[in-house]
Amino acid sequence: MSENYKSELVGVLGQPVAENPTGVMQEAAFAACGLAWRYLTIEVGPADLSAAMGGVRAFGMKGINLTIPHKVAVIPYLDGLSEEARVIGAVNTVVRRGDALIGENTDGKGFLRGVRQDGGMDVKGKRAVVLGAGGAARAIATELLLAGVSDLLVVNRSVERGEAMVRHLAAGTGGPIRFEPWVGTYAVGGDADLFVNATSIGLFPNVDACPDVDLSRAKPELLVCDAVFNPAVTRLMEMARGRGLRVLDGLSMLVYQGVIGFELWTGVNAPEAVMKEALRKALA
Ligand code: NDP
Repeated sequence: MSENYKSELVGVLGQPVAENPTGVMQEAAFAACGLAWRYLTIEVGPADLSAAMGGVRAFGMKGINLTIPHKVAVIPYLDGLSEEARVIGAVNTVVRRGDALIGENTDGKGFLRGVRQDGGMDVKGKRAVVLGAGGAARAIATELLLAGVSDLLVVNRSVERGEAMVRHLAAGTGGPIRFEPWVGTYAVGGDADLFVNATSIGLFPNVDACPDVDLSRAKPELLVCDAVFNPAVTRLMEMARGRGLRVLDGLSMLVYQGVIGFELWTGVNAPEAVMKEALRKALA
């Protein structure tokens, strides 16, 4: 019997990247599925992105994740974009299709899957509020619009950034999106079904920070989501729980974007429970 010692390769390019835990859950999934695949966590600065993407092609890698600061900068090195990645204007996952490298964005899809599977909510016809206008907010807002929310309010500190995001996504999706500047305390309205913190407020090491929001008028069914996954339980989540509201943590989004990436790369159903457990252990 002939042996095959060759591994299929995927990974992540970023800077800084050492604390990115995606490899832990992907490697656990490969092992659980008996796949001879490896996930490489690779530190690459902006000046080396071109060479690194040449390496992805030269090594015949099956795909690659992009994290800070490469999600937009990688686009010129790709052969095509998915519809969502085009609308969002950023790529977090590259998939090899034959010789072509295609840019996808699984952040928002991962978020939406978490809302459905872990939050038990179908967002179609629901009213959503997204705090933030950065990369995570764009990805989340795009998928919410494509999934048919009836109203999407973007609230952001920088008016210029918030308005630019709303203009871009309104043109890209034709969906019901509007903007409100974040001044002082933002009071979540009693008609909102879903509230998402897509800012970096509360992210390690600033774990005591909490978005300045008032949840006192929120309806009891409001689902409060945090994109921040480190720490797993944020101050915002504690505040929401204190009011008896349901919460969804950032780990959910992180796991499901990985689940979707795994399935895009391998064509195999992802072992979700294994991936969740590996990630929870790594971040415990
Ligand atoms: P960006 O840097 O692109 O955007 C940051 C956003 O946070 C901006 O809207 C910014 O507002 C806002 N913000 C930051 N600090 C403050 C502050 N002190 N007051 C008010 N607003 C503030 O970051 P990303 O969008 O890439 O990431 C946002 C968060 O989402 C991070 O915590 C990241 O870890 C998380 N994330 C989680 C993922 C997951 O799978 N769970 C995936 C991707 C990201 P302004 O425009 O005014 O500067």
